[in-house]
Amino acid sequence: MGNRTLAILKPDCVRKNLIGEVITKITEAGFKIKAMKMTRLSRAAAEGFYEVHKEREFFNSLVDFMTSGPCVPIALEKENAVADFRKLIGSTDPSEAAEGTIRKLFAESKQFNIVHGSDSDENAAIEIAHFFPRKELLENYND
Ligand code: GDP
Repeated sequence: MGNRTLAILKPDCVRKNLIGEVITKITEAGFKIKAMKMTRLSRAAAEGFYEVHKEREFFNSLVDFMTSGPCVPIALEKENAVADFRKLIGSTDPSEAAEGTIRKLFAESKQFNIVHGSDSDENAAIEIAHFFPRKELLENYND
């Protein structure tokens, strides 16, 4: 078994009808989907999720964005999941993201950047637990 990361297809991804294309990129890169749902974050949930940024000037705008429509959290598994997923999505600012990355291909700005990826194994575990109870993580599927 490899390790895990949490992806969120953000509300801009859903609005632009890019769920399918982005999931294709993710699975083609070798990630296995362990759990997935569509949900809409409450203000409290979005504020909690991005708590590390609460003093930043973009915090309210980020929370407005993340609560603006449905999003798709996905628990992913792969060896070296956290680092490999961040490589697949590219830099936060799409203008700085490498060619072929998901943000380079689809994102329109630093805020509207299509997808979230956990930044450490520790945060990945916390973020996955936030969205998926243990029994929703499909241990034996497509191993
Ligand atoms: P990530 O790990 O690449 O998602 O980046 P961060 O953890 O630094 O930021 C979290 C999210 O906040 C990003 O994915 C963006 O949606 C948003 N964000 C980050 N920096 C900025 C900024 O300078 N301006 C705005 N408006 N949003 C930002």
